[in-house]
Amino acid sequence: MHQQQAFDATAWRTGKVTGTETVDFTPDLKTCEVDFRLWPNKPKTAIAGDHLAIDAAKVGGAAVTPTLNADGGTASSPTLAVLPLTTCAKPGTTVHIDLAFTLTLGVDVAERTGREASGKFAWFDYSFPLLAWEFGHGWMRDPAVNLYGDMSGSEDFNLSSLSATAPSADAVTGTGAAGATTAGANGTTVHNFSATAVRDVSVAVGDFTVLNQQDGDVSVHLATPPSTVVTPQVWAAAIAKSLALEKMLGPFPYPDVWVTVLEPALGSGFEFPGGFLIADIDPDNDAPTVVTHDLAHSYFFGLVGNDQGRDPWLDESWSVWAGIVVNGAGEPDLTPSAAPQAGPIGEPMTFWATQPSAGQTYFEDVFVRTLPPQVL
Ligand SMILES: [Zn+2]
Repeated sequence: MHQQQAFDATAWRTGKVTGTETVDFTPDLKTCEVDFRLWPNKPKTAIAGDHLAIDAAKVGGAAVTPTLNADGGTASSPTLAVLPLTTCAKPGTTVHIDLAFTLTLGVDVAERTGREASGKFAWFDYSFPLLAWEFGHGWMRDPAVNLYGDMSGSEDFNLSSLSATAPSADAVTGTGAAGATTAGANGTTVHNFSATAVRDVSVAVGDFTVLNQQDGDVSVHLATPPSTVVTPQVWAAAIAKSLALEKMLGPFPYPDVWVTVLEPALGSGFEFPGGFLIADIDPDNDAPTVVTHDLAHSYFFGLVGNDQGRDPWLDESWSVWAGIVVNGAGEPDLTPSAAPQAGPIGEPMTFWATQPSAGQTYFEDVFVRTLPPQVL
């Protein structure tokens, strides 16, 4: 599968970003529709002011009108867009889709899509219509739930082109390998990226300094705003140390790593294939395993994908485990317990959303239930 993404972030300080997307989708099962998920419209981020709307859609060059479904969102914030096919697609045939969309950025959102209140920077990740196909299964229609956390899923695609147009004074971070920049109109610069196999696309724009360093075979690009809790060098050291993951799990799955430090409101880290967005914290003292955890997601979710709505434990528990091992904060106890903590770790996000103290229960059961007491 191939995708091209183009974001026009010229006016991001007004809270609006527009974009276009082309997808060449080759299903392995017969399908009579094409489904996209609109994850900024999930409850937690919709309430915070995020919104993603499809402005125009074409299939095979012909205009179509998507059918919008709340699917855990609301009628005004639908999370599922279904494009009908006039002729059902047979396995192995390629469907070409063109989309245009508008993204609205909420202020100080504690999630993957937002902008800083005073206009310093903005970030958007999973913030485009996401093709929701799972090979061997079909469309991923898991409902959005009212929790922070990931509930999305997508197959790898060749990101043949990612561009982000922004005011020339702004720095831009992306996904994959950075290409040459080109001049845009009216004092803007077009930043270009590409990647051979990713499941998601992440962009941040604004007043950042980008530090580049080579850690073995991985090119690290670290973006920090002017004032941060710790120096960029502290972050760079934490990233370098965390790439000890390669000794345990094999070569890092992506040649480029993008890490963007944002604001405290973000709360934590948000991974994407080949990088993560993270709150402005002191990684050594506030969250000593978080950098490793979010880089481990490039293996558990990036390299080995999962439907994070149906099986959230498949990437979270393994990334917690990797973070613990690499940082020496205790070895996972693999000895069968006399009284095993049998629990519903394998349940989907729809289960966790219905539990008492849902967010806390989700975290305790899916992330840390299997860890030994000394690291809790
Ligand atoms: Zn995680």
